[in-house]
Amino acid sequence: MNKDKQPNILFSSEQIRERLATMVGEIEKDYRDKELVVIAVLKGSVLFLADLVRGFSRPLAFDFIGVSSYGNSRTSLGLIKMEKDISIDIRDKDVLVVDDILDTGRTLGWLKDHLNKFGPRSVKICVLLEKEVDRVIDVEANYVGFSLPNVFVYGYGLDYRDRYRHLPYIAQLGDNEVPPGEKSLEE
Ligand code: 5GP
Ligand code: MG
Repeated sequence: MNKDKQPNILFSSEQIRERLATMVGEIEKDYRDKELVVIAVLKGSVLFLADLVRGFSRPLAFDFIGVSSYGNSRTSLGLIKMEKDISIDIRDKDVLVVDDILDTGRTLGWLKDHLNKFGPRSVKICVLLEKEVDRVIDVEANYVGFSLPNVFVYGYGLDYRDRYRHLPYIAQLGDNEVPPGEKSLEE
């Protein structure tokens, strides 16, 4: 166990809080006369969603969709599997998809096509993080919390082997590193 190691924090809870307040302002302005329905992607967006929606002073509805892209612990393979569909009516509504991170674009590309089948008035995308990489699927986020290079991050919704989603900050993990407190790879 590497007990003494400190996490390499990229975005602190304070930085996240400040950024979210600005994003809420932009979204509220853009959706002033619209019927806003937020669709959050499980499980990575849960902390982001909870903090984001608390900032709104206008009415809105939210629901969840469960999607996973299969791969190993650090890279997504690109096979999209839907584990839970939406259960509210989004026909003629203005949908804002909220997700943790835009990487290859496979998840959000698939999701946009899927949600468009229900006949919404509009579908826009809001992500906490956007990786500066070439997308496999051409999809753009309309609202982005932070951009980052192609590194692996965890915390604030994002997992390392399904754990650490609860951390209030976003930390970076080097190639052969594990989070502090986790058994090292050799052990
Ligand atoms: P995409 O479909 O755009 O390749 O990937 C989106 C999904 O891959 C994210 O919702 C997330 O679950 C996962 N992902 C991509 N990059 C990272 C990362 O750096 N850390 C973690 N924990 N998950 C990531
Ligand atoms: Mg995800």
